[in-house]
Amino acid sequence: MMKNIVLISIVVALLFCSCNRNKTDGSQHPAITAQMAFEGVNNYCHSQYDWSAAADNPSMMSVTMGDETDAEYEVIFRSYTGALVHFHVDKATGKTRMVESVPTLGVDSTLGTIDILDYIGKAKPTIHIYRYGTFPEAKAKQLKAVLEKVYSSVSLADEAIELPADCYYKPRDRYRGTGLLDDLRKLRHGGYALGLTNKIIYYENEISPTFGIFGISYMGDRVSVISSLRPKTLQPLSDEDMEELMLHELGHAFGLPHCKDERCMMVDAEHGYKFAQTQSFCPSCKNYLTTKGWTLP
Ligand SMILES: [Zn+2]
Ligand SMILES: [Zn+2]
Repeated sequence: MMKNIVLISIVVALLFCSCNRNKTDGSQHPAITAQMAFEGVNNYCHSQYDWSAAADNPSMMSVTMGDETDAEYEVIFRSYTGALVHFHVDKATGKTRMVESVPTLGVDSTLGTIDILDYIGKAKPTIHIYRYGTFPEAKAKQLKAVLEKVYSSVSLADEAIELPADCYYKPRDRYRGTGLLDDLRKLRHGGYALGLTNKIIYYENEISPTFGIFGISYMGDRVSVISSLRPKTLQPLSDEDMEELMLHELGHAFGLPHCKDERCMMVDAEHGYKFAQTQSFCPSCKNYLTTKGWTLP
């Protein structure tokens, strides 16, 4: 599932690049900066290689800058096997030669050529935050500030938006989560939409047709909604839990499924309203989000 999503996003990125190139019609590629060379190679390596070996030991795999000449940058990928791939990025054109070397065997082999511009992200899609109803503005600003630490393009709508009346279930004073997601879908503006509410949201499951939940997202479909109330006790979430909930749901919106690692924020809450043991993503979830433009510590 995740592989498919990753593949789809690569195809989309390639399409964007070729559209763009058509528009500039015959003009030269812009000169490549060292930052662009690194970003392109890093994105390429995260999309092409299996990083799961680095899940328990992130230092086993890496992308680092190498030597620089007048004509090219060198960026080096180190695999967990010890093999190295040297990317020689032409500063003028972005054409990048890939040479694999296996130090223990003393063998170098050319792997081919890529265009680094195909792997450099376009302007980052924005995460648009919306306050539903009377969700406090100060709290929304606080969540925005937390999100900005890990994702650089975030906006918060000035005006609160109305909770859709057709999603309201009066007997239990709660709103249908998928209805709110459908509402938020219209507000993505090419990026992501995150709704904040201080009402209970529900989802039909095997326990109840109006089962209260913390938050809900359409996986990979760029929308999430979260509630500031604990559905069982109706007590407000602590700031810390609310922040973690936000990052968890956005992880889904960006395409991440639940994670088995108990210390990872993408762990399943399993109706038990449990939160992960630490407020961070595991290396594998982190690697995935990094390819989506997150900057996680
Ligand atoms: Zn989840
Ligand atoms: Zn994880």
